[in-house]
Amino acid sequence: MGVSERKMGFPQNMFQETLFHETVFHVHTFRCKHAENVPDEAYVKRALEMHAGDIWFTDHAPFPGNPFGLRMAYEELPEYLDTLTALREKYAGQIRVHIGLEIEYFEQFADYYRELHENPAIELLLLGQHMASVATNQYSFSLSKEELDAKEAEYLVKALVQGMNTGYFQVCAHPDRSFRRKKEWTSDLEALSRELIHAAEANHVVLEHNLSSMRNPHHYWEEFWAMVPERVPTIVGCDAHKVSELAGQTAYKQELARGI
Ligand SMILES: [Zn+2]
Ligand SMILES: [Zn+2]
Repeated sequence: MGVSERKMGFPQNMFQETLFHETVFHVHTFRCKHAENVPDEAYVKRALEMHAGDIWFTDHAPFPGNPFGLRMAYEELPEYLDTLTALREKYAGQIRVHIGLEIEYFEQFADYYRELHENPAIELLLLGQHMASVATNQYSFSLSKEELDAKEAEYLVKALVQGMNTGYFQVCAHPDRSFRRKKEWTSDLEALSRELIHAAEANHVVLEHNLSSMRNPHHYWEEFWAMVPERVPTIVGCDAHKVSELAGQTAYKQELARGI
């Protein structure tokens, strides 16, 4: 990659590179059925226009047997990996195309995470808990609004902690979105946050500031981030479901400046 990097005037110093080149992290694709219907290459081209140094695809991972909606089918996984691998090769020297998957943790799929983790084509598993397993064959989406208001935060955090403890996940997506049904910060949320941050630190899991959460009421909690010690690494993720949503560190600083 060295020659073409020099050709494009990329700084040689890695620290400078992180200052000048944004990382576009957490990008979905049309396969998840709720993202813009464009080829994956459209995201790479846009990231290049942004002078990003890295783009990380993390589409919603399938599960064997396709038990859940709003994600790629299990049968589509090889094509997803092949298409992105081809893009990585095509754009080598211009931008680093990374291949990951965003996935919930459910205890009953323990072997499947190991399989994904061991797949050499997959660089990163992004733990994103949109729902949780609450009992044998029962998921949180089957609960009533009242039950979810009372218990969802606890269910999601419990699943995140279990997931992080497996060691298969390198990044935890929108950890504070677990509290989306709460209207105010409480000592219970503080206790759940402490558990979550401890698990992240113990397992070297990076915590994601999610730009999409920042734009939704009660999805992004400053109180949570104030508890995260500096030694715990964080990353900004755009959670893009459209080409126009690609963003990085600059957008995060703008959101912070605007105030949550
Ligand atoms: Zn999505
Ligand atoms: Zn996502």
